[in-house]
Amino acid sequence: MHDDGPTLDAPTRAALELAHGVLSAARRVTVLTGAGISTDSGIPDFRGPNGVWTRDPDAEKYSSIDHYLADPELRVRAWRFRMENPAWTAVPNDGHHALVELERSGRLQLLATQNIDGLHVAAGSDPELVVEVHGTIRGAKCTSCGWRGEMGPVMDRVRAGDPDPPCLVCGGVLKSATVFFGEHLDPIDVERAFDAASDTDVMLCIGTSLAVYPIAQMVPLALRGGARLVIVNAEPTPYDEAGVAVHAPISEVLPRLVS
Ligand code: NAD
Repeated sequence: MHDDGPTLDAPTRAALELAHGVLSAARRVTVLTGAGISTDSGIPDFRGPNGVWTRDPDAEKYSSIDHYLADPELRVRAWRFRMENPAWTAVPNDGHHALVELERSGRLQLLATQNIDGLHVAAGSDPELVVEVHGTIRGAKCTSCGWRGEMGPVMDRVRAGDPDPPCLVCGGVLKSATVFFGEHLDPIDVERAFDAASDTDVMLCIGTSLAVYPIAQMVPLALRGGARLVIVNAEPTPYDEAGVAVHAPISEVLPRLVS
């Protein structure tokens, strides 16, 4: 393992050492990432101390399908919010790159992410091994006819002065290709994530509060299948006691963990 550096306290260094041992012994690692892996790329999480929802509880409604469909004014605000998403200009950080290293070592079984920013693939992770369970802001879809396409041209229409651009096929309400509250996850994505978790040596959870279901269900499934659990997250999660939890900055410790 790399030098622990001066920034971590003794209990965190001990947890990191333990987690490194667990990961080094694993042949197959299944990963679940959340918003915390992208905060060092300048994209705030939702529930952390500087989270989008922590600072502006109203922002949660932009991701609620019922509010979104019922309220045209909210949609106008949601389109503006989408345009200002820091993900459009963000670049991957050392945390994303560390998972590319893990893949190169041949041990990565699947990388399930709750993130919608596309940064794992931008870092070089194999798209075949990445499952974006909550979708992507880089795509758009119609809530009426099911049309799907690139987000870029839709955003161009917003920039050109249409504050809530309708579907060009059927006139329906457009949204990003992300999974809103009240919408279903793609069952194929969920099955891939659950299958990988159920049959793995290590379940590695990074930058997620493990509060969003059904995807957090990967953890109990992995434990039931006999996997060891490693969590890297600044704040405690409900599953810390079931495995090794490293409470430290992701982009600092993840490269050491997978080395
Ligand atoms: P969350 O906001 O619930 O939890 C993020 C966790 O990461 C927090 O517990 C926080 O303490 C931790 N964290 C933040 N920065 C960290 C860092 N640098 N080092 C270590 N820990 C750090 O996020 P979630 O569990 O992913 O669930 C939120 C939902 O929000 C997801 O469904 C996701 O789709 C969406 N979301 C995505 C993005 C994105 O695409 N980047 C950003 C915000 C929210």
